[in-house]
Amino acid sequence: MVDFSLSTEERQIRDTVRSFIEKEVMPLEPEVLRNENAGRPGVDPDVLRELRLKAKKMGFWGISTPEEYGGADLGPVMSAIIVMEMGRTYVPFSFGGTADNILYAGNDEQKRRYLIPTIEGERRSCFAITEPGAGSDARNIRTRAVKDGGDWVVNGEKTFITGGSEADFVMVFAVTDPERGAAGGVTCFLVDRDMGWKSEPIPTMGEWGPASLVFEDVRVPEENVLGEVGRGFELAMQWIGQGRYMIPARAIGSAERMLQMAVDYARIRHSMGRPIAEYQAIQWMIADSQVEIEAAKWLTLYAAWQVQQGMDARHASSIAKLNGAIMANQVVDRVLQIHGGMGYTKELPIERWYRELRLLRIFEGTDEIQRRTIARNLLKGHARLGTIGE
Ligand SMILES: Cc1cc2nc3c(=O)[nH]c(=O)nc-3n(C[C@H](O)[C@H](O)[C@H](O)COP(=O)(O)OP(=O)(O)OC[C@H]3O[C@@H](n4cnc5c(N)ncnc54)[C@H](O)[C@@H]3O)c2cc1C
Repeated sequence: MVDFSLSTEERQIRDTVRSFIEKEVMPLEPEVLRNENAGRPGVDPDVLRELRLKAKKMGFWGISTPEEYGGADLGPVMSAIIVMEMGRTYVPFSFGGTADNILYAGNDEQKRRYLIPTIEGERRSCFAITEPGAGSDARNIRTRAVKDGGDWVVNGEKTFITGGSEADFVMVFAVTDPERGAAGGVTCFLVDRDMGWKSEPIPTMGEWGPASLVFEDVRVPEENVLGEVGRGFELAMQWIGQGRYMIPARAIGSAERMLQMAVDYARIRHSMGRPIAEYQAIQWMIADSQVEIEAAKWLTLYAAWQVQQGMDARHASSIAKLNGAIMANQVVDRVLQIHGGMGYTKELPIERWYRELRLLRIFEGTDEIQRRTIARNLLKGHARLGTIGE
């Protein structure tokens, strides 16, 4: 039987997260806007740390981290629901206790040095595959690693790396066998900042900027190869694949919150003698937004459910990511329109969300790349039409 309901326990978790976000995180919003408008980071890192500790005491720590690493291991569906709740605020808050999925591919020593300190919040990672000459075409990366004695020597440049300015180590992807390239000739290296790579922030239209990373003869000991030599491209795809349904999940929370703002505003804003809520033009924007949010919600939960079932969720995740990214941009645009000139000001957070959500159509696979994947899956017979949960 198809069952769309949450269990009592799942609903309790969702409600607890919602109330935590409302009571503890949303009150920081005015300060975030003030700071960011003045060119400062939205929230003090110490305040974020305190919030994470408070959440940890309530059991919200490592929501998708295996229990043997101290996590709650709530599974993909519940994690997606929690991320939806977190998306309701633009305060850059996330629960602690998580680490990149590919760090679990490390050996015991690498887990001790990289995975566990990242889960504990003592170390910060970044993931670097994109290069100035290879974004969507990630198979075409040029950063090179050449063996020299017991070390690999890495040379190349990475760009648009989230967290690249703050990270103290990078999971960097480099070509170790140019003849094989992505098909067995790319390797992932764990490279500490003090091994010699440099970063430079890249200003963007969003509030948190990525960085470019430069590797000039950076010597990386052999034991810092993550996984197997030549198998790095698979790890990169594993990393990207995991995040794919989480991106629309966060956007759903933001879109719902903004739509509520638009509904509230439409009731109180008068024009030509009536609340604008009475005009069909406004009602249609509200209705279309709700329809698109609901569609995105179920596509996202379906992709998460497939991951939870151990199914190959790549097709469903691409559909959810493409749909969710477009939905979020349409909804924020309508919400801004409903608020008129006020929507365009920095007094309200709508223009901030507008800038932030634009990224969703670009990173972790652009709209065009998702469409390409979806079409190719159908054309090559990797995905079938007419299925339900199969
Ligand atoms: C804020 C931000 C954070 C990021 N964080 C990270 C990170 O942490 N780590 C990391 O490695 N990367 C990161 N990226 C990089 C991101 O994944 C790439 O920007 C993205 O994959 C697109 O690559 P590109 O920018 O080189 O665009 P291009 O690949 O040059 O694409 C340009 C345009 O051409 C289209 N296009 C390209 N190929 C095709 C095709 N075959 N068919 C049809 N259309 C096509 C694209 O859709 C796009 O519209 C980040 C980017 C941004 C902006």
